[in-house]
Parts: sequence; C-alpha cells; structure tokens
Amino acid sequence: MSEPIKYGPAKLLPGDQIRISTNPDTEPFWLAAKEHRLTACQCAACGHFRMPPTAYCPECSSTEKNWPTLPGTATVFSYVVCNRNPKDGEPYIYVPVVVDIDGAPGARLNANVTGCNAEDVHIGMKVTVEWTEIQDGWVLPNFRKL
Ligand SMILES: [Zn+2]
Repeated sequence: MSEPIKYGPAKLLPGDQIRISTNPDTEPFWLAAKEHRLTACQCAACGHFRMPPTAYCPECSSTEKNWPTLPGTATVFSYVVCNRNPKDGEPYIYVPVVVDIDGAPGARLNANVTGCNAEDVHIGMKVTVEWTEIQDGWVLPNFRKL
C-alpha cells in the first residue's frame, strides 16, 4: 500500500488571472461580493434558492428575485485537487470546490478553498468566505477552512 500523496498548502488562483462577465441576472451577486456580502438568488414569490441565478424561478416561473445577505459559511459538497496553474501549466496546488451555501438551501457555488493542505480538504468540511480581488475591480468569493 502506498503512502497518501502530500500536496501541501492549498493556494487560491491569482486574482489577476481571473476575469468574470455579468448579465442582468447575475450582476446583483457580483455587486454584493464587491461589498463582501455573500448572497444567493432567491425567488421572491416562493422562496426557492437557485444558483447560478436565472431569469425565471424553476419552481414557479416568477421573475422576481431577492438577494439576502447570507452568513458567509458553507460546507464542501465536492472538490478536486489540481496541481498545475491553468494559465501557464506551472506546478501550482489549488482546490476547486463546490459548496452548499449556509442559509440558502439548495444553492451551491463553485470556488477555491484555502487555509489548509490540499490533502486535508474533504466532503463535509466547514468553510467561511474569503474575498479575492480579481480583474476589472470585481471581487470573487473563495472559501477558507474553519
Ligand atoms: Zn419561485
């Protein structure tokens, strides 16, 4: 039996390598992130959360949305350990995750996780939001191990 792989500290991807685009359905999420508020799209008619935000609620077809401020904590639903920077292929350890957002049942978010070694990330791990400045003045939510 071989020893488990030791990757070392999970880094965040450099913010200057990340660019986003917005549309009328997603922009409120990104504007809240600029204020360091984690939110998720919630139907104003029936309360159903949906991420990514879409024009119509999949449950009741309403176009009305709320953007509640959430606690900023989450639980790792899934993850993968990456060992190359996608920009230049150089060795770089980072851990993309899908998290269940606390306070928004059913809403999940893709991000990166830090604050621990990559080999210690696991499904069910509790994390808290950490804000990363990216291109064009936007701010990206990532997560840190609690
Ligand atoms: Zn609805």
